[in-house]
Amino acid sequence: MNGVYIEITDVCNLHCSFCPSGKRDKASCNTPSRTAPTIGTTPAVCASRTFMPTELFERCITEAATVADQVYFHVLGEPTLHPGFGRFLKKLEQVSAAQSDGKSLQLNLTTNGTTIDRCGKAILASPAVRQVNFSTHAYAELPFDEAAENLQNVLDFCRMAAAIRPDLYINLRLWNVGDESSNAWNNYMLEQVNIAFGRINASGENSVANQNHVVGENRVPITLEHFCSRHKSFLVEGRIYIHQDSRFEWPDGSASSATSTNAPTLKSLGSTRPTYPKGTCRALDTHCAILHDGRVVACCLDHSGQITLGHIQENSLAEILSSPMATEIREGFANHELRHPFCQSCSFCKRFK
Ligand code: SF4
Ligand code: SF4
Repeated sequence: MNGVYIEITDVCNLHCSFCPSGKRDKASCNTPSRTAPTIGTTPAVCASRTFMPTELFERCITEAATVADQVYFHVLGEPTLHPGFGRFLKKLEQVSAAQSDGKSLQLNLTTNGTTIDRCGKAILASPAVRQVNFSTHAYAELPFDEAAENLQNVLDFCRMAAAIRPDLYINLRLWNVGDESSNAWNNYMLEQVNIAFGRINASGENSVANQNHVVGENRVPITLEHFCSRHKSFLVEGRIYIHQDSRFEWPDGSASSATSTNAPTLKSLGSTRPTYPKGTCRALDTHCAILHDGRVVACCLDHSGQITLGHIQENSLAEILSSPMATEIREGFANHELRHPFCQSCSFCKRFK
């Protein structure tokens, strides 16, 4: 397995229209079920806003190291808002340093960048941070002054990283392809990136130093036209990239609730074999996730625990990932079958044909 998503908090300081983070109803919070889950049952949903306790985080990070070499600190939420974020980086470094056989455990941090002026130095100082992804598409919905200030702080971080952490991968994400209302922001952002990295001057003209360069030589101004479905990533400088992609829709489980009473259970697979919608996914092969309350779920889109496989405080991650339910879902993906009702409501998996 490549990575484990650990949702250290589901709190966020932004309210993107496309994200379930701003849509949860606190009143609907139930205590998470700890009974053994089966396919076709809908687990209780906890909608509270929570920071993961330190002890639970330590359990998660230690368990993650047994099955993967990379972690993420989000499912929903903005990880740098966690009051223990700095301590969690230190714990990650300790766990990574304790790995044997030359292995390590590294963090791919995804952040909205709104706190990067405060936590940037700690991130750059941590050798366990391998990559930082900035969700700069989130700024398209902010008042312009606020968005521009956030972007400036992110670009300051990028320049600092290029100077003192050239090994760090940075992705400036624009995951809003197809949303025309974001084009004005995207154009502004690319212009600022071009200025920050000397591709154009402040007047918007090609820098003198770049005038002899042509497209493909990596120093021309980056524009929206450079991106397409087969060319989603553009190198800015060193290991700093702009990454453009379409907006994905979070599965809402509507198919799950619609079909849950007729959904196949583990027991029903014995004699008459049900048929399933076609589809596959890399979840449980390349990654899994642990929610802020310790529930282990199949993927980083399952923010409400619709595919709860177990609880990290009760079983090891390896045990949970080899449970009958996880095994069945994984076998389904291998056979191009979406066996879990929640997966049947997921459009993200249509990317994997
Ligand atoms: S910044 Fe990220 S977690 Fe926060 S609301 Fe936007 S998409 Fe959701
Ligand atoms: S199909 Fe969708 S909901 Fe199911 S595991 Fe994959 S990403 Fe998650």
